Amino acid sequence: MEYFAPKSIAEALSLLERYGGEAKVIAGGTDVMVDIKYKEEPGCLINIKAIGGLAGIKENNGGVRIGPLTTIRDLETSALIRDKLPVLWEAAHQFASLQIRNTATIGGNICRASPSGETLTPLLVLEASGNIAFSDKETAEPFINFFSGPGKTTLGAKGLLTAIDVPYPAAESRGVYLKHAVRGAMDIAMVGVAVLITPDAAKKAVRDVRIGLGAVAPTPIRAAKAEASLRGKPLTPALLKQAAELAASEASPIDDQRSSAEYRRWIVEALTRRGLAQSWKAATGKEAV
Ligand SMILES: Cc1cc2nc3c(=O)[nH]c(=O)nc-3n(C[C@H](O)[C@H](O)[C@H](O)COP(=O)(O)OP(=O)(O)OC[C@H]3O[C@@H](n4cnc5c(N)ncnc54)[C@H](O)[C@@H]3O)c2cc1C
Repeated sequence: MEYFAPKSIAEALSLLERYGGEAKVIAGGTDVMVDIKYKEEPGCLINIKAIGGLAGIKENNGGVRIGPLTTIRDLETSALIRDKLPVLWEAAHQFASLQIRNTATIGGNICRASPSGETLTPLLVLEASGNIAFSDKETAEPFINFFSGPGKTTLGAKGLLTAIDVPYPAAESRGVYLKHAVRGAMDIAMVGVAVLITPDAAKKAVRDVRIGLGAVAPTPIRAAKAEASLRGKPLTPALLKQAAELAASEASPIDDQRSSAEYRRWIVEALTRRGLAQSWKAATGKEAV
């Protein structure tokens, strides 16, 4: 196996152009090293850790720009992320062990494109996008269009994620990330649900709501029908129940060693209902009535 440690994005892109499907980008390596040990060895490894400017968290035009090499621990210890993007902070806080959080990067989590990737549903409800570079072009891609299946993204074999842009949600919005796993944060999510809700000015009706579901479809998804059922309406217990049932119907979970599909659907319903109620209370100071 060949090994490269490019010093610039241009150098990394020209290596990806040259080696294409033979190459594997490595950042923190918490997924790649496990794959090399238990699955297959790539023809060449391109370690991007020596490229300057790919780590860090900065305010940027009404939002935050996060470098792909930013570790999950950097997110968890950032006051900016905790105060302005608490849904993403909660996902970082519930991510694996401290040892993994110190090494794993947000870029690796996104590009791995695991349906259970912890940061993905928060990024979907925050309507974040990625800056994707190829040797001949650069695009800004909303993450809602980025994932096409487990491990599959619009990066293909030659793209590099160079930045993550997260716009600030409405100041009156509140949200939550809820993870269900057998061994809590130490385990990969069996189901992950991210919710962001914005009440109207009178705090009586739902002005906007976004619901992200993880580990229950080939990609992380937004529960669009459940969201539509809530917009513009006062949040009553009956509406909450109906929206949670709709979210469960939008999931297409599988049976695997972590859980049955039926149990996952049930958990989606429970977590969606809890996430909506909790976020509504945080945003309005009131229970759904
Ligand atoms: C013990 C253990 C526990 C874990 N627990 C969790 C958990 O609780 N939640 C969770 O979501 N995940 C978990 N994971 C999975 C893993 O830690 C995460 O997916 C992590 O964020 C991957 O980041 P990394 O920097 O280590 O990525 P790497 O392993 O370096 O790379 C992952 C993938 O992304 C690609 N890649 C990385 N950066 C870029 C880039 N900038 N551009 C293009 N492609 C890129 C690589 O080619 C590879 O395909 C766990 C893993 C282990 C080993």
